Amino acid sequence: MREDLLAVINDEKRVITENIERKYLSDNLERRQGTAGALVFPVSTEEVSGILKYAYDNNLPVTPRGAGTNLVGSTIPSGNGIVLDLSLMNHILELDKETFTATVEPGVILEDFQSYVEEQGLFYPPDPGEKKATIGGNISTNAGGMRAVKYGVTKDYVMGLELVLADGTVVQAGSKNRKDTSGLNIKDIVVGSEGTLAVITKCILKLIPKPQESVSVLVGFDSLKSGIESVRKIINANLNPTAIEFIERKVVQLGEEFLQLEFPEKKSEAYILLTFDGNKREIDDHIEALKTVAKDSGAITVLTLEDKETAARVWKIRGVLVRAVEAVSEQEPLDIVVPINKIDTFVNFVNELEKKSGMRMISFGHAGDGNVHLCVVRGDRDDYTWEKELDENLEILYRKATELGGLVSGEHGIGLSKQKYLKEVTNPVNLALMKSIKSSFDKKNILNAGISYNV
Ligand SMILES: Cc1cc2nc3c(=O)[nH]c(=O)nc-3n(C[C@H](O)[C@H](O)[C@H](O)COP(=O)(O)OP(=O)(O)OC[C@H]3O[C@@H](n4cnc5c(N)ncnc54)[C@H](O)[C@@H]3O)c2cc1C
Repeated sequence: MREDLLAVINDEKRVITENIERKYLSDNLERRQGTAGALVFPVSTEEVSGILKYAYDNNLPVTPRGAGTNLVGSTIPSGNGIVLDLSLMNHILELDKETFTATVEPGVILEDFQSYVEEQGLFYPPDPGEKKATIGGNISTNAGGMRAVKYGVTKDYVMGLELVLADGTVVQAGSKNRKDTSGLNIKDIVVGSEGTLAVITKCILKLIPKPQESVSVLVGFDSLKSGIESVRKIINANLNPTAIEFIERKVVQLGEEFLQLEFPEKKSEAYILLTFDGNKREIDDHIEALKTVAKDSGAITVLTLEDKETAARVWKIRGVLVRAVEAVSEQEPLDIVVPINKIDTFVNFVNELEKKSGMRMISFGHAGDGNVHLCVVRGDRDDYTWEKELDENLEILYRKATELGGLVSGEHGIGLSKQKYLKEVTNPVNLALMKSIKSSFDKKNILNAGISYNV
């Protein structure tokens, strides 16, 4: 295989066939490890196409990969296949201020792209917690994040994609046009498909003018229940926040200990953390109105984080929570989404299940869009007990979410970790449609072959 791959990528340093580093055979959690015959780092669409044509002709599985920050086992390769790492395709190709678009390669890192456009007075709103992820990975998982309440998710900012199909064919999907009802939308089908339909080699992204200012507010409550109940009232009051997060005090404490930093207020049991952006007057008006809504909802404190350092500290603690939990014990990260009027019901259910099962469950997340991040904690269970009890509790949680009209994943995707549960709660007709879409793109099941809707 090495000689064949070198015929496409004529650079020994970019074709690895021995001693492949562990991180390239796993996801961010590095709990499970796959196998591969080769790891390659293409730098052009032509090289990606050549590699895929070779894999297709030789029936070799291919696992595309960005920064490998996924939490669901979607970059765990199998067999003697090829890991296709897109991280060296990391150039910003064009900034078109006339159409408010940027064209980039898939390996561009999110935080680099955000800083670049902001220096130009423009703004790319998708803002998932992990800023070192790639744009290609964000598109392939339809990443959400903190600003989704006001601005939507990654798919809302993808206007066009260059794709390489499993057999090496290069396709252009979408464009710089703002509207498109010109046949079925191939670009939208690929967004969020976790590398199972095609490899993304170029991305046209929508930008907006950069908001003048952004101010965060921390609202404290004496219970999570009253905090979450306030969210509906905040949304109803049309205050247009960019972010509405909920966190319990006991969870904040994990972040504080992990970073050796402190929240500016410690007496509340639960917090709602909001951000407002726009011009100063608009922000001031919304924060004034928030104070009234929060007071009516039983808030203990409303703290406007005018000081940039304090705001950054609070968001840093919020952003590190998954890592802080991981530092204490192995955990299974879930990102169940429920309709926004069902968040309190779901979180209360989780708290009851925690008591009944004796398994620690830490929840926090995007209260504004119903996306509950839940860490189910292993503690000192041995392998057998952990796997058994985890599976029993996940079944209960996913069934409850489905009963409330929710879904298995709001933003992390399915990967290998959630395929069993997706199958259990998804209508068979939907699963059959997913399978036939997969085989229209990739009839030999070359791309990310292990992920559920392939089989
Ligand atoms: C601390 C932490 C916080 C996080 N917070 C959030 C959050 O708030 N919101 C959120 O949505 N996610 C979050 N994530 C998950 C993760 O960062 C996202 O899923 C991210 O979009 C993955 O990007 P990546 O470049 O790391 O992709 P990878 O992990 O490398 O790959 C993810 C998937 O995309 C596919 N893929 C990657 N590049 C391509 C390509 N060019 N063409 C085709 N397929 C491709 C892979 O095959 C895989 O299926 C978090 C992760 C961590 C560790």
